[in-house]
Amino acid sequence: MARLIVEQIPVLSDNYIYLLHEPESGATGVVDPAVAEPVLAILRAKGWRLSHILNTHHHGDHTGGNLELKNATGAQVVGARKDAGRIPGIDVELSEGETFLLGHAAAMVFETPGHTSGHIAYWFPETDALFCGDTLFSLGCGRLFEGTPEQMWASLSKLRELPPETNVYCAHEYTAANGRFARMVERDNLALLTRLDQVAHLAGKPSVPSLLADERAANPFLRADTPTVARAVGLEPGTEPARVFAELRRRKDVF
Ligand code: ZN
Ligand code: FE
Repeated sequence: MARLIVEQIPVLSDNYIYLLHEPESGATGVVDPAVAEPVLAILRAKGWRLSHILNTHHHGDHTGGNLELKNATGAQVVGARKDAGRIPGIDVELSEGETFLLGHAAAMVFETPGHTSGHIAYWFPETDALFCGDTLFSLGCGRLFEGTPEQMWASLSKLRELPPETNVYCAHEYTAANGRFARMVERDNLALLTRLDQVAHLAGKPSVPSLLADERAANPFLRADTPTVARAVGLEPGTEPARVFAELRRRKDVF
């Protein structure tokens, strides 16, 4: 069992790539490489050899660097078994509940359909790190391109159960825009107001990772089963959470 060193690489307009290094074995992984060059530059600077490319889903801003990195380093591409046909260069296929080993660091794999049908998330318990791609964002969640609100609510509910000290390494810097919508939903939520205040004072520094405890307290998309959120979208408290979630997601789409 081992703890990872995590390097965050901002790329494109708002994507984050994560480089994971397991110091005992030297194993090094990259999560959702939109592009290859910035990853290769950090690998060179650190003297790390890339062993694995981990994808959460098939979208180009998460897999665009797969083949170039694989060609340059010989790294193995890891992704969802259900989406193997759409993950460029895939070598290792994973399903719900399987364990992936990056050197001595173990990740548990969750299937989190909703944003895409084959989306997965990687949880490294010894590092308190969740790599959740475009399923869960800070103060938001991914758009439903290929899934139903019921599926996405089930996916988010699964991630919500992880330990509160989990760091949420999502794939985009969307927190400020998400926060404007969240504030409209729960204007009296103190945890949300505190988080918005933090984010407002970051001066361009990343708002990611966030703590799962803070997301549970402030992210409306994890709170579809609370009375205030139901009321905010015009539904009776006690309404089926998936229905509340669906209405919340619909309103965010047109916000
Ligand atoms: Zn995506
Ligand atoms: Fe994305």
